[in-house]
Amino acid sequence: MRPENLFPLFRTVTSLKGVGARTADLIEKVAGPHIIDLLWHLPSGIIDRRYTPKVKDAIPDSIATITLRITKHYPPHNPRQPYKIVGMDDTGAMSLVFFRARSDYLNKMLPEGEVRVVSGKIEKFGDGIQMTHPDHIVREDEVESFNKVEPVYPLTAGLSLKVMGKAMTAALEIPTELPEWLDGPLVAREKWTTWLTAVQAIHAPESENDLSPQTPNRRRLAYDELLANQLALALVRAHMKRTKGLALKGDGSLREKVRAALPFKLTNSQIFTLGEIDADLAADHRMLRLLQGDVGSGKTVVALMAMLSAVEAGGQAVMMAPTEILARQHLASISQMTESADLQPLLLTGRERGKKREEILDKLKSGAARLVIGTHALFTDDVEYKDLRVTVIDEQHRFGVHQRLTLAAKGRAVDVLVMTATPIPRTLMLTAYGDMDVSRLTEKPAGRKPVQTVLISQERLDEVVGAVKRAVSSGARVYWVCPLIEEQETSDMAAAEARYDHLRSIFGERTGLVHGRLKGADKDAVMMAFKDGNIDVLVATTVIEVGVDVPEASVMVIEHAERFGLAQLHQLRGRIGRGAEKSTCLLVHAGHIGETAKARLTTMRETDDGFIIAERDLQLRGAGELLGTRQSGLPEFRLADIAEHAELLQIARDDAEMILLNDPDLQKDRGQALRHLLYLFERDSAIRYLRSG
Ligand code: ADP
Ligand code: MG
Repeated sequence: MRPENLFPLFRTVTSLKGVGARTADLIEKVAGPHIIDLLWHLPSGIIDRRYTPKVKDAIPDSIATITLRITKHYPPHNPRQPYKIVGMDDTGAMSLVFFRARSDYLNKMLPEGEVRVVSGKIEKFGDGIQMTHPDHIVREDEVESFNKVEPVYPLTAGLSLKVMGKAMTAALEIPTELPEWLDGPLVAREKWTTWLTAVQAIHAPESENDLSPQTPNRRRLAYDELLANQLALALVRAHMKRTKGLALKGDGSLREKVRAALPFKLTNSQIFTLGEIDADLAADHRMLRLLQGDVGSGKTVVALMAMLSAVEAGGQAVMMAPTEILARQHLASISQMTESADLQPLLLTGRERGKKREEILDKLKSGAARLVIGTHALFTDDVEYKDLRVTVIDEQHRFGVHQRLTLAAKGRAVDVLVMTATPIPRTLMLTAYGDMDVSRLTEKPAGRKPVQTVLISQERLDEVVGAVKRAVSSGARVYWVCPLIEEQETSDMAAAEARYDHLRSIFGERTGLVHGRLKGADKDAVMMAFKDGNIDVLVATTVIEVGVDVPEASVMVIEHAERFGLAQLHQLRGRIGRGAEKSTCLLVHAGHIGETAKARLTTMRETDDGFIIAERDLQLRGAGELLGTRQSGLPEFRLADIAEHAELLQIARDDAEMILLNDPDLQKDRGQALRHLLYLFERDSAIRYLRSG
């Protein structure tokens, strides 16, 4: 249960004075629905209102706060003209200018004969100055009511800084001091203040410097967030460790059969990583290992070998893929590879329903099914396994952190192997998993020919079509990728469909189209036709990005390649260059593209090394964005910036470890305070893993 003194922070912003439903919607859009979200919404700039010149001295284009006696109102003759109000001090007069203003409002705010303080941008007007729509208008005795240095917040259409500022001021009155969850010596060494002081200070910047991510106040809050993240991960890990693993040792019989039937020899890299995995399996702790290998490096067969150990030992093994297409593809290739071992792997996705599904569930429960491949449907609540030993998760960056953790933490003593093609830098890895063992496939299977990559401008599309024509007539199979820009799914679909129509008029019947809106079965049918060679040119949106294996495809055209991220381009290109044919990737780009886009495309032309590409991506995009947190399932941080606070992340990791060593169930004083921290950052799902919640 959430500690009571946090309740006020988790009220919705509508509970704030002056925040109605409409404003709340807008605030939710930029910050979030709760008061705490508003507090985490950091200023992005400042307006310094401490410049208080006399009228005569006010410098145009500056922000100034000026005290005036209002002398006269000049309402407009027609509504398109501005309403002008003249005021003066002892050095001269200036006008205040309002468009579409209501005169009753202006008469109330700026009555003739009275003194008012106005603040806003000074504009030059003829020989004098004016101010259009002052940001603040108050009586002299109210001057304190607007901050002398005012924070500026990221806003959205319809939400003004004034409204945001008011909501923020109201929100800042809500929090009270919370029990200190940080380690005293760390706070002293870093010269940090309390949580409450830090929150208040971060919303009261005095200068540009105060906006830096390296101020002690910001660092403290960033550390809080990182510690919550690391502590949550550590709790899950501790839970996993408590549920002991089983020492798993197969007799090698199935592996040997499968290996003997493979049409290739395992690479040294595959053999080596398999050794690391076997050591984990044989030990009595649970395996939590990441298998990282570039697209086409041959992760599937390594995972299969691990799964076979489970079966040899009399248990069950599953492989979970992020999409149905991929699950089916894995089933196809694993069925083929295990043919000699007579294992009859099963498939379980969202599409197996009713009686069919019942049958599969029965087999999982009875243990009759030993090798199972599927999607997250493998882990819905009603699925029971007789003796699940090994779980393989493919292309994990498509799964959310939460999904991954709950899966890994299921009460069973399962060994978990996560496969990814995306090299994740160490810092990002820590935030996503805490400590996880890593195996890397550094070597590609022999006989792979590097893909030749060509950049070509959209204006030369005719030449591209010509080249594709030549390739097809000599028997090549071609992917033609159209970009999918988020939020415009329909128009992208239209673009892909238009391209399909166009290419169909050239290539005829043997042209296919596959996109995300197609039903699963239709999607599969098209992919299968392409794989079987009944389609030569496959027009696709990025649905082909992940994992689909058609070794015969040797040409890829990517339209509007400048719109794709590096990692995505690399993933896409990895779909070709898998077979015996020499492969070509044509990156078709708009005539005029920005520097960064150009750098991305050039990188693609120059290398096909996933690690170099990931590093380049990091340089071009910055750490936080590397994988695109949303699609990657990496946690999004509000206060911490992984690039800026990497060293705090290390400290937080060690801190979390020490905390659980001293107080594994968070019962002591600091432990109780830390529970507040977990709730504050909504890492409360981790609290379930305490032995006494
Ligand atoms: P990824 O690492 O991208 O998941 P896959 O496991 O799908 O790669 O393997 C890509 C292709 O390479 C598959 O067709 C697979 O059969 C083949 N392959 C795997 N290992 C080897 C090897 N040692 N030698 C030759 N081909 C291999
Ligand atoms: Mg794969």
